[in-house]
Amino acid sequence: MKIDEYQAKEIFTQYNIPTPQEILCKTPQEVKQASRKIGKKVVVKAQVKVGGRGKAGGVKLANNPQEAEEVGKQILGMEIKGLKVQKVLVSEAVEIKSESYVGFTNDRSSKKIVCMASPAGGVDIEEVAKETPDKIYKILVDPLKGGLHDFQARNLAFKLYDDVKSVRQTVSILKALYKAYIGTDASLVEINPLVENGEGKLIALDAKFNFDDNALYRHPEIAKMREVLPAEKVEREAKEKGLSYIKLDGFIGCMVNGAGLAMAAMDMIKLFGGNPANFLDIGGSSNPKKVINAMKILLNDDNVQVVMINIFGGITRCDDVANGLMEAFDALKINLPVVIRLTGTNEKEGLEILKQNKELILANSMQDAAKKAIELANK
Ligand code: GDP
Ligand code: MN
Repeated sequence: MKIDEYQAKEIFTQYNIPTPQEILCKTPQEVKQASRKIGKKVVVKAQVKVGGRGKAGGVKLANNPQEAEEVGKQILGMEIKGLKVQKVLVSEAVEIKSESYVGFTNDRSSKKIVCMASPAGGVDIEEVAKETPDKIYKILVDPLKGGLHDFQARNLAFKLYDDVKSVRQTVSILKALYKAYIGTDASLVEINPLVENGEGKLIALDAKFNFDDNALYRHPEIAKMREVLPAEKVEREAKEKGLSYIKLDGFIGCMVNGAGLAMAAMDMIKLFGGNPANFLDIGGSSNPKKVINAMKILLNDDNVQVVMINIFGGITRCDDVANGLMEAFDALKINLPVVIRLTGTNEKEGLEILKQNKELILANSMQDAAKKAIELANK
Protein backbone atom coordinates (compact mmCIF):
# COMPACT_ATOMS: atom_id res chain seq x y z
CA MET A 1 0.00 0.00 0.00
CA LYS A 2 1.18 3.49 -0.85
CA ILE A 3 0.47 6.72 0.98
CA ASP A 4 0.81 10.40 0.13
CA GLU A 5 3.82 12.52 0.92
CA TYR A 6 2.01 14.46 3.65
CA GLN A 7 1.06 11.21 5.40
CA ALA A 8 4.60 9.88 5.06
CA LYS A 9 5.88 13.07 6.66
CA GLU A 10 3.46 12.66 9.58
CA ILE A 11 5.15 9.33 10.24
CA PHE A 12 8.57 10.98 9.88
CA THR A 13 7.60 13.49 12.55
CA GLN A 14 6.64 10.67 14.92
CA TYR A 15 10.13 9.25 14.45
CA ASN A 16 11.89 12.62 14.85
CA ILE A 17 12.98 12.97 11.24
CA PRO A 18 13.09 16.70 10.43
CA THR A 19 10.59 17.93 7.80
CA PRO A 20 9.68 21.48 6.68
CA GLN A 21 6.66 23.30 8.12
CA GLU A 22 3.69 22.16 6.05
CA ILE A 23 -0.08 22.49 5.66
CA LEU A 24 -2.38 20.25 3.61
CA CYS A 25 -4.88 22.10 1.37
CA LYS A 26 -7.77 21.22 -0.91
CA THR A 27 -8.64 24.57 -2.48
CA PRO A 28 -6.65 27.55 -3.85
CA GLN A 29 -8.10 29.69 -1.03
CA GLU A 30 -6.73 27.28 1.55
CA VAL A 31 -3.38 27.44 -0.23
CA LYS A 32 -3.38 31.22 0.07
CA GLN A 33 -4.18 31.08 3.79
CA ALA A 34 -1.56 28.41 4.39
CA SER A 35 1.04 30.48 2.62
CA ARG A 36 0.11 33.49 4.78
CA LYS A 37 0.36 31.40 7.92
CA ILE A 38 3.79 30.03 6.99
CA GLY A 39 4.78 33.62 6.30
CA LYS A 40 7.54 33.12 3.73
CA LYS A 41 8.15 31.65 0.30
CA VAL A 42 6.38 28.34 -0.10
CA VAL A 43 6.41 25.32 -2.37
CA VAL A 44 3.02 23.94 -3.46
CA LYS A 45 3.20 20.19 -4.06
CA ALA A 46 0.65 17.87 -5.69
CA GLN A 47 -0.27 14.94 -3.45
CA VAL A 48 -0.47 11.96 -5.79
CA LYS A 49 0.97 8.51 -5.28
CA VAL A 50 3.46 8.60 -8.15
CA GLY A 51 7.05 9.77 -8.48
CA GLY A 52 8.32 12.57 -10.70
CA ARG A 53 5.71 15.14 -9.68
CA GLY A 54 8.34 17.87 -9.98
CA LYS A 55 9.04 17.07 -13.64
CA ALA A 56 5.32 16.86 -14.39
CA GLY A 57 4.72 20.41 -13.09
CA GLY A 58 3.23 19.29 -9.79
CA VAL A 59 5.79 21.07 -7.56
CA LYS A 60 5.91 24.86 -7.80
CA LEU A 61 7.47 27.72 -5.86
CA ALA A 62 5.40 30.76 -4.80
CA ASN A 63 6.85 34.01 -3.43
CA ASN A 64 3.74 35.32 -1.67
CA PRO A 65 0.15 34.31 -0.79
CA GLN A 66 -1.25 35.66 -4.11
CA GLU A 67 1.23 33.65 -6.11
CA ALA A 68 0.53 30.63 -3.92
CA GLU A 69 -3.18 30.85 -4.69
CA GLU A 70 -2.40 31.12 -8.41
CA VAL A 71 -0.08 28.10 -8.30
CA GLY A 72 -2.68 26.22 -6.23
CA LYS A 73 -5.23 26.84 -9.00
CA GLN A 74 -2.82 25.42 -11.57
CA ILE A 75 -1.93 22.29 -9.63
CA LEU A 76 -5.29 21.37 -8.08
CA GLY A 77 -7.24 19.48 -10.72
CA MET A 78 -4.30 18.74 -12.99
CA GLU A 79 -3.56 15.16 -13.95
CA ILE A 80 -0.24 13.49 -13.20
CA LYS A 81 0.33 10.08 -14.77
CA GLY A 82 -3.43 9.57 -14.95
CA LEU A 83 -4.13 10.64 -11.36
CA LYS A 84 -6.17 13.75 -10.65
CA VAL A 85 -4.68 16.10 -8.07
CA GLN A 86 -7.19 16.76 -5.28
CA LYS A 87 -4.84 17.80 -2.49
CA VAL A 88 -1.70 19.87 -2.30
CA LEU A 89 0.87 20.26 0.40
CA VAL A 90 1.95 23.83 1.07
CA SER A 91 5.46 23.64 2.40
CA GLU A 92 7.87 26.35 3.57
CA ALA A 93 10.45 26.78 0.82
CA VAL A 94 13.83 25.53 1.87
CA GLU A 95 17.10 26.96 0.62
CA ILE A 96 18.92 24.00 -0.86
CA LYS A 97 22.69 23.66 -0.50
CA SER A 98 22.76 20.00 -1.55
CA GLU A 99 20.34 17.16 -2.32
CA SER A 100 20.96 13.53 -1.49
CA TYR A 101 18.99 10.29 -1.39
CA VAL A 102 18.53 7.75 1.41
CA GLY A 103 16.20 4.78 1.63
CA PHE A 104 15.55 1.29 2.95
CA THR A 105 13.95 -1.69 1.25
CA ASN A 106 13.96 -5.46 1.45
CA ASP A 107 16.64 -7.30 -0.47
CA ARG A 108 15.28 -10.71 -1.34
CA SER A 109 18.51 -12.27 -2.59
CA SER A 110 20.42 -11.58 0.63
CA LYS A 111 17.31 -11.94 2.82
CA LYS A 112 18.29 -8.70 4.52
CA ILE A 113 17.30 -5.07 4.53
CA VAL A 114 19.28 -2.90 2.16
CA CYS A 115 20.04 0.69 3.04
CA MET A 116 20.79 2.84 0.03
CA ALA A 117 22.31 6.29 -0.10
CA SER A 118 23.40 8.56 -2.90
CA PRO A 119 24.84 12.06 -3.08
CA ALA A 120 22.96 12.39 -6.41
CA GLY A 121 19.58 13.06 -4.84
CA GLY A 122 16.61 15.08 -6.02
CA VAL A 123 16.41 13.35 -9.37
CA ASP A 124 14.87 10.04 -10.30
CA ILE A 125 16.87 7.45 -8.36
CA GLU A 126 16.06 4.73 -10.92
CA GLU A 127 17.81 6.91 -13.49
CA VAL A 128 20.88 7.32 -11.27
CA ALA A 129 20.94 3.55 -10.78
CA LYS A 130 20.93 3.05 -14.55
CA GLU A 131 23.24 5.86 -15.70
CA THR A 132 25.72 6.14 -12.80
CA PRO A 133 25.34 3.11 -10.52
CA ASP A 134 28.65 3.93 -8.84
CA LYS A 135 26.91 6.92 -7.22
CA ILE A 136 24.64 4.64 -5.21
CA TYR A 137 26.06 3.17 -2.03
CA LYS A 138 24.48 0.20 -0.29
CA ILE A 139 24.86 -1.67 2.95
CA LEU A 140 23.01 -4.75 4.09
CA VAL A 141 21.32 -4.66 7.47
CA ASP A 142 20.46 -7.84 9.33
CA PRO A 143 17.38 -7.26 11.48
CA LEU A 144 18.24 -10.34 13.54
CA LYS A 145 21.72 -9.05 14.37
CA GLY A 146 20.99 -5.75 15.99
CA GLY A 147 19.59 -3.93 12.96
CA LEU A 148 21.41 -0.88 11.63
CA HIS A 149 24.66 -0.41 13.54
CA ASP A 150 26.20 2.99 14.17
CA PHE A 151 29.33 2.15 12.21
CA GLN A 152 27.26 1.14 9.19
CA ALA A 153 25.25 4.36 9.29
CA ARG A 154 28.49 6.36 9.69
CA ASN A 155 30.15 4.63 6.76
CA LEU A 156 27.24 5.52 4.53
CA ALA A 157 26.95 9.06 5.88
CA PHE A 158 30.58 9.73 4.97
CA LYS A 159 29.75 8.83 1.35
CA LEU A 160 27.28 11.72 1.34
CA TYR A 161 29.04 14.43 3.34
CA ASP A 162 32.60 15.39 4.33
CA ASP A 163 31.86 17.46 7.41
CA VAL A 164 31.25 15.93 10.81
CA LYS A 165 28.17 18.05 11.50
CA SER A 166 26.31 16.72 8.45
CA VAL A 167 27.54 13.19 9.03
CA ARG A 168 26.17 13.23 12.60
CA GLN A 169 22.78 14.42 11.39
CA THR A 170 22.74 11.80 8.63
CA VAL A 171 23.51 9.04 11.12
CA SER A 172 20.62 10.04 13.36
CA ILE A 173 18.27 10.35 10.34
CA LEU A 174 19.31 6.93 9.01
CA LYS A 175 18.75 5.35 12.41
CA ALA A 176 15.35 6.99 12.78
CA LEU A 177 14.41 5.99 9.23
CA TYR A 178 15.35 2.39 9.96
CA LYS A 179 13.20 2.48 13.10
CA ALA A 180 10.28 3.84 11.06
CA TYR A 181 10.82 1.17 8.41
CA ILE A 182 10.72 -1.65 10.96
CA GLY A 183 8.08 -0.04 13.16
CA THR A 184 5.55 0.32 10.36
CA ASP A 185 6.31 -2.96 8.51
CA ALA A 186 7.21 -0.93 5.45
CA SER A 187 8.51 -2.52 2.27
CA LEU A 188 10.12 0.72 1.12
CA VAL A 189 10.95 4.05 2.67
CA GLU A 190 12.72 6.89 0.89
CA ILE A 191 13.84 10.44 1.44
CA ASN A 192 14.51 12.04 -1.93
CA PRO A 193 15.77 14.65 -1.60
CA LEU A 194 17.34 14.84 1.82
CA VAL A 195 18.53 18.45 1.70
CA GLU A 196 21.06 20.55 3.51
CA ASN A 197 19.54 23.99 4.08
CA GLY A 198 21.21 27.40 4.37
CA GLU A 199 22.06 26.83 8.02
CA GLY A 200 23.53 23.39 7.39
CA LYS A 201 20.54 21.54 8.81
CA LEU A 202 19.44 18.32 7.11
CA ILE A 203 15.72 18.11 6.25
CA ALA A 204 13.56 15.48 4.55
CA LEU A 205 12.03 17.48 1.69
CA ASP A 206 10.14 14.56 0.20
CA ALA A 207 8.95 11.30 1.75
CA LYS A 208 7.80 7.99 0.39
CA PHE A 209 6.51 4.83 2.05
CA ASN A 210 5.22 1.54 0.68
CA PHE A 211 3.76 -0.89 3.19
CA ASP A 212 3.42 -4.63 3.25
CA ASP A 213 -0.34 -5.19 2.88
CA ASN A 214 -0.10 -8.43 4.82
CA ALA A 215 1.07 -6.55 7.90
CA LEU A 216 -1.53 -3.77 7.80
CA TYR A 217 -3.65 -5.52 10.42
CA ARG A 218 -0.93 -4.65 12.90
CA HIS A 219 -1.13 -0.95 12.01
CA PRO A 220 -4.73 0.23 12.02
CA GLU A 221 -3.61 3.88 11.92
CA ILE A 222 -1.80 3.22 8.63
CA ALA A 223 -4.53 0.97 7.22
CA LYS A 224 -6.92 3.91 7.74
CA MET A 225 -4.84 5.97 5.30
CA ARG A 226 -5.77 3.68 2.43
CA GLU A 227 -7.44 5.51 -0.40
CA VAL A 228 -9.34 3.25 -2.75
CA LEU A 229 -8.46 4.00 -6.37
CA PRO A 230 -11.29 3.59 -8.93
CA ALA A 231 -9.74 0.43 -10.40
CA GLU A 232 -9.28 -1.07 -6.94
CA LYS A 233 -12.96 -0.45 -6.18
CA VAL A 234 -14.09 -2.82 -8.92
CA GLU A 235 -11.50 -5.35 -7.80
CA ARG A 236 -12.74 -5.20 -4.24
CA GLU A 237 -16.40 -5.57 -5.25
CA ALA A 238 -15.43 -8.58 -7.37
CA LYS A 239 -13.70 -10.12 -4.39
CA GLU A 240 -16.83 -9.76 -2.28
CA LYS A 241 -18.68 -11.75 -4.96
CA GLY A 242 -16.14 -14.56 -4.90
CA LEU A 243 -14.34 -13.51 -8.08
CA SER A 244 -10.62 -12.80 -8.47
CA TYR A 245 -10.46 -9.84 -10.81
CA ILE A 246 -7.51 -7.65 -11.78
CA LYS A 247 -7.97 -4.92 -14.35
CA LEU A 248 -5.34 -4.64 -17.06
CA ASP A 249 -5.12 -2.26 -20.00
CA GLY A 250 -5.90 -4.51 -22.97
CA PHE A 251 -9.11 -5.00 -24.93
CA ILE A 252 -10.03 -8.69 -24.63
CA GLY A 253 -12.18 -9.40 -21.59
CA CYS A 254 -11.35 -12.80 -20.13
CA MET A 255 -13.51 -15.07 -18.01
CA VAL A 256 -11.89 -18.29 -16.88
CA ASN A 257 -12.41 -20.94 -14.22
CA GLY A 258 -9.14 -21.35 -12.34
CA ALA A 259 -6.21 -19.01 -11.82
CA GLY A 260 -3.68 -21.13 -13.73
CA LEU A 261 -5.98 -21.49 -16.70
CA ALA A 262 -6.64 -17.75 -16.59
CA MET A 263 -2.91 -17.06 -16.76
CA ALA A 264 -2.58 -19.50 -19.67
CA ALA A 265 -5.48 -17.82 -21.49
CA MET A 266 -3.83 -14.42 -21.08
CA ASP A 267 -0.52 -15.81 -22.33
CA MET A 268 -2.30 -17.24 -25.35
CA ILE A 269 -3.92 -13.89 -26.15
CA LYS A 270 -0.54 -12.19 -25.93
CA LEU A 271 1.11 -14.88 -28.05
CA PHE A 272 -1.23 -14.16 -30.95
CA GLY A 273 -0.76 -10.41 -30.70
CA GLY A 274 -3.76 -9.47 -28.54
CA ASN A 275 -3.93 -7.85 -25.14
CA PRO A 276 -6.08 -9.02 -22.20
CA ALA A 277 -8.31 -6.42 -20.52
CA ASN A 278 -8.22 -8.28 -17.25
CA PHE A 279 -7.46 -11.34 -15.24
CA LEU A 280 -10.69 -12.93 -14.05
CA ASP A 281 -11.00 -16.22 -12.22
CA ILE A 282 -14.60 -17.20 -11.51
CA GLY A 283 -13.53 -20.27 -9.54
CA GLY A 284 -14.61 -23.84 -9.99
CA SER A 285 -18.39 -23.75 -10.02
CA SER A 286 -21.20 -23.54 -12.54
CA ASN A 287 -23.15 -20.99 -10.51
CA PRO A 288 -24.94 -18.70 -13.03
CA LYS A 289 -24.84 -15.84 -10.52
CA LYS A 290 -21.07 -15.80 -10.63
CA VAL A 291 -21.10 -15.78 -14.42
CA ILE A 292 -23.60 -12.91 -14.43
CA ASN A 293 -21.49 -10.89 -11.99
CA ALA A 294 -18.33 -11.61 -13.94
CA MET A 295 -20.01 -10.68 -17.23
CA LYS A 296 -21.27 -7.42 -15.71
CA ILE A 297 -17.75 -6.43 -14.72
CA LEU A 298 -16.47 -7.11 -18.24
CA LEU A 299 -19.35 -5.24 -19.91
CA ASN A 300 -18.76 -2.23 -17.64
CA ASP A 301 -15.18 -1.91 -18.83
CA ASP A 302 -15.15 0.45 -21.84
CA ASN A 303 -11.90 -1.06 -23.08
CA VAL A 304 -13.41 -4.50 -23.58
CA GLN A 305 -14.18 -5.13 -27.27
CA VAL A 306 -14.75 -8.87 -27.10
CA VAL A 307 -15.23 -11.45 -24.36
CA MET A 308 -13.30 -14.69 -24.30
CA ILE A 309 -14.58 -17.42 -21.99
CA ASN A 310 -12.25 -20.32 -21.32
CA ILE A 311 -13.68 -23.13 -19.21
CA PHE A 312 -12.25 -26.46 -18.26
CA GLY A 313 -14.75 -28.83 -16.70
CA GLY A 314 -13.00 -31.08 -14.24
CA ILE A 315 -15.16 -31.82 -11.24
CA THR A 316 -17.63 -29.22 -12.51
CA ARG A 317 -19.37 -30.69 -15.54
CA CYS A 318 -19.44 -28.83 -18.85
CA ASP A 319 -23.23 -29.26 -19.24
CA ASP A 320 -23.74 -27.64 -15.83
CA VAL A 321 -21.45 -24.80 -16.83
CA ALA A 322 -23.22 -24.43 -20.19
CA ASN A 323 -26.59 -24.19 -18.46
CA GLY A 324 -25.16 -21.58 -16.13
CA LEU A 325 -23.80 -19.59 -19.06
CA MET A 326 -27.13 -19.76 -20.92
CA GLU A 327 -28.97 -18.54 -17.86
CA ALA A 328 -26.51 -15.71 -17.43
CA PHE A 329 -26.76 -14.66 -21.08
CA ASP A 330 -30.55 -14.66 -20.87
CA ALA A 331 -30.39 -12.35 -17.88
CA LEU A 332 -28.04 -9.83 -19.50
CA LYS A 333 -28.06 -7.65 -22.57
CA ILE A 334 -24.77 -8.43 -24.23
CA ASN A 335 -23.74 -6.28 -27.16
CA LEU A 336 -20.24 -7.66 -27.59
CA PRO A 337 -19.04 -10.77 -29.39
CA VAL A 338 -18.52 -13.69 -26.99
CA VAL A 339 -16.07 -16.47 -27.80
CA ILE A 340 -16.34 -19.64 -25.71
CA ARG A 341 -14.03 -22.55 -25.34
CA LEU A 342 -15.52 -25.31 -23.23
CA THR A 343 -13.73 -28.58 -22.64
CA GLY A 344 -13.56 -31.45 -20.14
CA THR A 345 -16.15 -33.63 -18.44
CA ASN A 346 -19.43 -33.86 -20.44
CA GLU A 347 -18.03 -31.58 -23.10
CA LYS A 348 -20.31 -32.88 -25.85
CA GLU A 349 -23.47 -32.26 -23.83
CA GLY A 350 -22.22 -28.83 -22.86
CA LEU A 351 -21.55 -27.78 -26.44
CA GLU A 352 -24.99 -28.99 -27.54
CA ILE A 353 -26.52 -26.62 -25.02
CA LEU A 354 -24.36 -23.68 -26.08
CA LYS A 355 -25.24 -24.22 -29.74
CA GLN A 356 -28.82 -23.19 -28.94
CA ASN A 357 -27.59 -19.61 -28.69
CA LYS A 358 -26.63 -18.73 -32.25
CA GLU A 359 -24.73 -15.60 -31.23
CA LEU A 360 -22.08 -17.41 -29.24
CA ILE A 361 -18.88 -18.14 -31.10
CA LEU A 362 -17.57 -21.56 -30.17
CA ALA A 363 -13.87 -22.37 -30.26
CA ASN A 364 -12.40 -25.84 -30.17
CA SER A 365 -9.16 -25.00 -28.37
CA MET A 366 -7.61 -22.24 -26.30
CA GLN A 367 -5.51 -21.19 -29.31
CA ASP A 368 -8.59 -21.09 -31.49
CA ALA A 369 -10.44 -19.00 -28.90
CA ALA A 370 -7.62 -16.47 -28.60
CA LYS A 371 -7.28 -16.15 -32.38
CA LYS A 372 -11.01 -15.70 -32.86
CA ALA A 373 -11.23 -13.12 -30.09
CA ILE A 374 -8.35 -11.09 -31.53
CA GLU A 375 -9.87 -11.24 -35.01
CA LEU A 376 -13.23 -10.00 -33.71
CA ALA A 377 -11.58 -7.22 -31.73
CA ASN A 378 -9.77 -5.95 -34.79
CA LYS A 379 -12.96 -5.69 -36.84
P1 GDP B 1 9.07 14.62 -6.76
O1 GDP B 1 9.41 15.27 -8.07
O2 GDP B 1 7.74 13.96 -6.82
O3 GDP B 1 10.12 13.71 -6.28
O4 GDP B 1 8.92 15.82 -5.69
P2 GDP B 1 9.97 16.45 -4.65
O5 GDP B 1 9.26 16.81 -3.42
O6 GDP B 1 11.15 15.56 -4.46
O7 GDP B 1 10.42 17.80 -5.35
C1 GDP B 1 11.12 17.78 -6.58
C2 GDP B 1 12.21 18.85 -6.59
O8 GDP B 1 11.64 20.13 -6.38
C3 GDP B 1 13.23 18.70 -5.48
O9 GDP B 1 14.24 17.77 -5.79
C4 GDP B 1 13.77 20.11 -5.38
O10 GDP B 1 14.78 20.31 -6.34
C5 GDP B 1 12.57 20.97 -5.72
N1 GDP B 1 12.02 21.47 -4.46
C6 GDP B 1 11.07 20.90 -3.67
N2 GDP B 1 10.87 21.59 -2.54
C7 GDP B 1 11.73 22.64 -2.60
C8 GDP B 1 12.05 23.73 -1.72
O11 GDP B 1 11.50 23.90 -0.63
N3 GDP B 1 13.00 24.62 -2.14
C9 GDP B 1 13.64 24.48 -3.33
N4 GDP B 1 14.56 25.38 -3.68
N5 GDP B 1 13.38 23.47 -4.17
C10 GDP B 1 12.46 22.56 -3.82
MN1 MN C 1 11.23 13.42 -4.64
